[in-house]
Amino acid sequence: MQLPEETQVLIVGAGPIGLEMGVALSRAGLDFCIVDAEQVGHTISWYAPGTHFFSSPERIAIAGIPLLTSDQGKATREEYLNYLMSVAWQFDLPIHGGLRLQSIQRRADSEARGGWKVSLQNKWHRPREASAGRVAGQSNPVSTIECRYLVLATGDMHQPRRLDVAGEDQPNVSHYLQELRNYFRQEVVIVGGRNSAVEAAIRIFRMGGKVTMLCRGDSLDATSIKYWLYPEITSLIKNGMIRLIANSVVVRIDGDRVYYQASHSQGENQNQDPAANEEPMGFVEADQILLLTGYIPDNSLYERLGVDLEGDAFRPVHNESMETNLDNVFIAGTATAGSQYKHTVFIENSHEHVERILDAILDRESASGRNAAGANREMDSESGAQRSGEGSFLHGGPQGGRAGSARDGEDGKSLKALYSDHPES
Ligand SMILES: Cc1cc2nc3c(=O)[nH]c(=O)nc-3n(C[C@H](O)[C@H](O)[C@H](O)COP(=O)(O)OP(=O)(O)OC[C@H]3O[C@@H](n4cnc5c(N)ncnc54)[C@H](O)[C@@H]3O)c2cc1C
Repeated sequence: MQLPEETQVLIVGAGPIGLEMGVALSRAGLDFCIVDAEQVGHTISWYAPGTHFFSSPERIAIAGIPLLTSDQGKATREEYLNYLMSVAWQFDLPIHGGLRLQSIQRRADSEARGGWKVSLQNKWHRPREASAGRVAGQSNPVSTIECRYLVLATGDMHQPRRLDVAGEDQPNVSHYLQELRNYFRQEVVIVGGRNSAVEAAIRIFRMGGKVTMLCRGDSLDATSIKYWLYPEITSLIKNGMIRLIANSVVVRIDGDRVYYQASHSQGENQNQDPAANEEPMGFVEADQILLLTGYIPDNSLYERLGVDLEGDAFRPVHNESMETNLDNVFIAGTATAGSQYKHTVFIENSHEHVERILDAILDRESASGRNAAGANREMDSESGAQRSGEGSFLHGGPQGGRAGSARDGEDGKSLKALYSDHPES
């Protein structure tokens, strides 16, 4: 699919929120396209097969399209990926996979038109010998596209949160839970004490693996673990099916041994590098070692773009309209969160970003007199599909679970109330 030379809105990231943004722009009749370094739903694609979302289907449904699951329970990774593909297909979203955002430059005539020239590194395309476009010294060709507005929906899970200990890159060590059959009759050490680690422990045990968990705290923290997993893991530990070594910090991995020391030996006055502290307290042997200690964003992208970050979490700075310090550059979804240790920004509370950005773009377009399409807020019955029938294109329909925009404040309020009434979902 040929990337156009210019578009009104460029969305970077084809995760749930980038797609939801695309549907909103399509419904508003604006010109846009979506690029992703990989493909639709890439972040979700690396979850282990069969992983269940903790959010209820209506909370992670996008653009008002119902998300049906086979048992009316929480969606699996597979169900949600298929759902995202269906939404993208149904709305014929112009998605260009394999294009990684590298850098942006103000357009030469930005005074007149505003906007950005965006450089994207192409993962798959190889130019024919004679074609131009290959930048000297770069292995992949670079494509460019100009846009007036840029929406960064790039997520917050670009790389694992590393332990930075010796042995972390050995072949028997991974930061990702794989297909479960890989763990049959394997001794597996899982490092971490939150949802991913607990879920992996239970599933590997049930798949015939022998599991030892290492966690920093005195015990597993019930407040950080899905409410249906906590009783299960505590029962398996109590009954000796899964071993838990609490208060432990990994200091190095050497072959099939994971060395650890007591976490409370790392008080405030101690050197924060565990390896620099006392000798290991003990070790556990393992065929495979899973370091499930979370995932973090690649902040180098924001630094390259010039997006300001703030706080310990290096959160991208943005205003109420989700605009960053760069004019017409917006940020949406979990990308707004920075590096989350305890997660507070999810798909389910990011829907409102889409509506804030849409409102800002429509306001600017109509203020500049350019927005013929923006006036087209009521949708015609032929473009797009599954409209809500509630009169406004912002409405999500029965399952949408979407916050209202500032302009339909009552809906926004009621959704917020719903979140606080049902924090468990
Ligand atoms: C095991 C697990 C379970 C989870 N369960 C839930 C849940 O129940 N509910 C929930 O709300 N959240 C859940 N999450 C978090 C969820 O995955 C994310 O919140 C969700 O994917 C975020 O959506 P997003 O659209 O903001 O970003 P993402 O889905 O992360 O999409 C970002 C996209 O941007 C692309 N991208 C990144 N950088 C670039 C670049 N430089 N150029 C081009 N493209 C780029 C990526 O390839 C990716 O496709 C879970 C996460 C995990 C790991």
